Amino acid sequence: MLSIFPANDQRQSLRLQRFFMAVLCYVLWVSMGLGMYFTGMLSIPGEMAVPILAGILVTNLYFYGFIRSGLNKHFSDPSLTFSQIIVAMTWILVLMFGATESRSVMLPVYVMSLLFGVFKLKHREFMILAIFGLLGYLVVVGLDLLFHRDLFDMQTEVLRASVLAGTLLWAAVFGSYVSGLRNKLRDRNNELREALDVVNHTARHDHLTQAYNRRYVMQTLTSEKARADRTRRSFSVVILDLDHFKIINDRYGHLAGDRVLIAFSERTKGTLRGLDSVGREGVKTFGRYGGEEFIVLLPETDLGGAYQCAERIRYVTEDEPFDDVFKITVSSGVAEYRLGESVEDTLRRADAALYRAKDNGRNCVVADDTPTSGIYSLLTGDELAPNVVVGQF
Ligand code: GH3
Ligand code: MG
Ligand code: MG
Repeated sequence: MLSIFPANDQRQSLRLQRFFMAVLCYVLWVSMGLGMYFTGMLSIPGEMAVPILAGILVTNLYFYGFIRSGLNKHFSDPSLTFSQIIVAMTWILVLMFGATESRSVMLPVYVMSLLFGVFKLKHREFMILAIFGLLGYLVVVGLDLLFHRDLFDMQTEVLRASVLAGTLLWAAVFGSYVSGLRNKLRDRNNELREALDVVNHTARHDHLTQAYNRRYVMQTLTSEKARADRTRRSFSVVILDLDHFKIINDRYGHLAGDRVLIAFSERTKGTLRGLDSVGREGVKTFGRYGGEEFIVLLPETDLGGAYQCAERIRYVTEDEPFDDVFKITVSSGVAEYRLGESVEDTLRRADAALYRAKDNGRNCVVADDTPTSGIYSLLTGDELAPNVVVGQF
């Protein structure tokens, strides 16, 4: 069903809200005009009144339809502020021409329409509108000289035009000042939003490798544990440690070591993205756990799935040298979360498995082999066999 305001488009709704504020302004001065018409203060001939009212209605329906349809979005100012003000001022001029002697009553409304510009207009546009407003008024006065000469009083007209010129100028200056403040505020808000994005990114990411940092990984682990306890669907962790990394630092310098850490992180992220079958239903989290240690959190993944994932990372690490020269390998420890245990316990078991991988000669994956005595995989329901190293190389 077609609603007055578009659903799910706040900006368009805001533009239409402003449009209806302008409509309220129209209602105000059209009522004034009608009041004057019926009390004989408005000298517009009866046959002209209907076309004027119809014209006002049609132009407003046109603006509404234009904004509601979304066509306005192709314009640099989708609120169509400038054209709406020009059209409103023109209609007031038409009424003012008809109002002759009681025209002064219309002047505040005339200036009021300019103030709608504070939402969008720049200084130059305000000045153009003020000049348009004054020239338009002078045209009405000129037409008065032609058609209502008998009612024309030069002194009153000069006074009225001067007051209008001053008021329009003041409204333009004031409006562009407020509009300038609004723009500054908007820029400041954008800067703040960007700064907040940077702060959020920095709070979650490791500055060197751009993997998630330890703090974020621990937070994610805690919420993953809560989810697993609730849904009884387990997750697994893999702790990775680069083999003999110290040698790279010692031989080629710390900066070369840094480059390897960055490249390893990139390659592992790419590998994880490619492993769709692992952690399919949750987001895999890869983070830097410490110096040259990394961690992968695999939601909805059992020990076997996590083992395969770690093995894949081990393979792609060994497969090609980093930076074309640094041939390195990685060892990993894998553990599946057991219902009710703490996150620290899961990590401790993964860490212990990692130590075993180092003991076993490095460049291998070892799955947690601590006795499970009746502990079952939350994912598969299989009992986790005690003292079994799922795989090593
Ligand atoms: P292992 O196979 O037993 O893991 O040997 P390893 O040399 O990798 O282990 P060790 O813990 O002895 O050394 C880790 C090295 O990682 C020591 C440290 O200087 C280096 N390291 C830690 N953080 C950074 C870092 O941010 N940049 C660089 N370039 N090196 C780092
Ligand atoms: Mg190491
Ligand atoms: Mg280490």
